[in-house]
Amino acid sequence: MAEKREFQSEAKQVLELMINSVYSNPDIFVRELISNASDAIDKLRIESLSKPELAGYAKNGRIDVTIDKESGTLTFSDNGIGMNKEELVSFLGTIAKSGTNEFIRAMQEAKSGSAGNLIGQFGVGFYSAFIAADNVTVDTMKAGEDKAWKWESTGDGTFTIDDGSRASNGSTITLHIKKDEKKDEEEGELKDYLSEWTIRGIIREYSDFVSYPIYLTEKGREKKEDEKEEPVNSMKALWTRPQKDIKDEEFNEFYRHISHDWEDPMERIYYRAEGTCEFTALLFIPSRQPMDLFYQDGRHGVQLYIRRVFIMNDCKELIPQYLRFVKGVVDSEDLSLNVSREMLQQDRMASQIKSSLVRKILDTLAKMKKEKGEEFAKFWQTFGIVLKEGIISDLRHRDELIKLCVFESSEGKKTSVEDYIVNMPAGQDKIYYLTGSSLKNLQNSPKLEAFKKKGVNVLLLSDPVDEIWVNHARKYDKYDFVSAAAENLSLPEGEKKEEKNNVEIEKSGLVKKIKDALGALVEDVKISDRLVDSPVCFVQKGEEISPQMRNFFKSMGQ
Ligand code: ADP
Ligand code: MG
Repeated sequence: MAEKREFQSEAKQVLELMINSVYSNPDIFVRELISNASDAIDKLRIESLSKPELAGYAKNGRIDVTIDKESGTLTFSDNGIGMNKEELVSFLGTIAKSGTNEFIRAMQEAKSGSAGNLIGQFGVGFYSAFIAADNVTVDTMKAGEDKAWKWESTGDGTFTIDDGSRASNGSTITLHIKKDEKKDEEEGELKDYLSEWTIRGIIREYSDFVSYPIYLTEKGREKKEDEKEEPVNSMKALWTRPQKDIKDEEFNEFYRHISHDWEDPMERIYYRAEGTCEFTALLFIPSRQPMDLFYQDGRHGVQLYIRRVFIMNDCKELIPQYLRFVKGVVDSEDLSLNVSREMLQQDRMASQIKSSLVRKILDTLAKMKKEKGEEFAKFWQTFGIVLKEGIISDLRHRDELIKLCVFESSEGKKTSVEDYIVNMPAGQDKIYYLTGSSLKNLQNSPKLEAFKKKGVNVLLLSDPVDEIWVNHARKYDKYDFVSAAAENLSLPEGEKKEEKNNVEIEKSGLVKKIKDALGALVEDVKISDRLVDSPVCFVQKGEEISPQMRNFFKSMGQ
């Protein structure tokens, strides 16, 4: 008996969007289903390393795509890990990812044309099947178990679970292809997904690098005498091919394949290390922020391969947190095939790879900054805020990272710290900065008056992370970072104090009056030289934690 279940409400919303939106590229459902099949085979292989009883299943991974014109269906079948009943209900009936609500909002806001760009970034890939199908079934058996289950839905808010008919581990996803295609729109047109020629083209275009063979057959079509079973995809690891033979478009397609991004990357890094630690890295800097950049469980973008065998996604062990926006592939010649995350953390070879990747990425950024100013400006706007985390965590490259930073300044221009130093007036030996939560407030701060008058530029730091790194770094080269809000500033040019004026204010008893009026709200009231036009301003005392910093720690739950 089939059990009827409801989709979780977020899943329902995603489904509705999927069904009703016009996609700039409806073909992506093929990519999504193949990538799930490939993930499922990967998972089985990885699991079999620790569960020897699964070893027998984890051989000869393959993906079969079958067209059945008579019944109007397109089927994706894999011999991967499969799902048991509970998994089927939870993986395909709910969306567990933290970004879902944001995804739904972004989808609703997006113009129909760009909605397709968002799919995949959020792990709602499976539901893309409903772009082309009005009924989807999943027949699946979990490796190591002996009962098959079938999931079925028309995308209407409910799905059913029933006994399945698969006889071996893996999943078979059957799409009943929609009939009434929107033929009028130029973009977002559904193709004939029951045409072998069409599907072959889509697989070649989007899934050529999938490392398991994808076979395409048309049911009922007679095979020619000498026709051999040949995979549609080349499976050829792009990074092993001579780089000069690879077209930009191939690199970009590969990037889109591994990143689930729909745009081209901003920059590409290819690196082959030889000698004691041999590896190849093909890395990309995306041209826009992924949605999960600031989520705690957000993905890192680097995949680890060992001698051309895929080992893991999301390899945090090879790339520091502050470079988590970099996507790509690292293929090591030396690591052992059954390496685990825990082992990677201890592995000397892995840490060597990590430090050369950092070296390479920072060099690339420095070069971009020097030679491609406009592109770097875009990079900085997109990922600068993440890169700055490295000033806190990566002591070894601290000065280098500060050097890459682009700051707003009280002179109204963006500046690097090097330019700042070059342009300092004689006598200035410190780097002044002011932190706050909005650039506009900083620009208008009375604390800047004395600086402006003396021609001393002040870096205006308005990202939450600024306060923290600047407190960690304290110095760049031989120059101290000094807050323009600090209590005892000695600005350059010897400072002529207007003693007389101060004495008069002192005599008038004004200071005491203000102090009495403010009571416990302030610690002290003092006459200051820092102001030019404004009557008063608040400053921090000595080393105390600033208001921005206090808020930050509060938001981190400390
Ligand atoms: P993602 O692939 O980003 O996790 P999807 O929506 O594409 O998101 O798939 C949701 C989940 O459903 C997957 O994480 C996986 O656990 C399960 N799944 C989908 N397709 C398959 C398959 N062919 N074999 C096994 N599990 C699958
Ligand atoms: Mg997927």
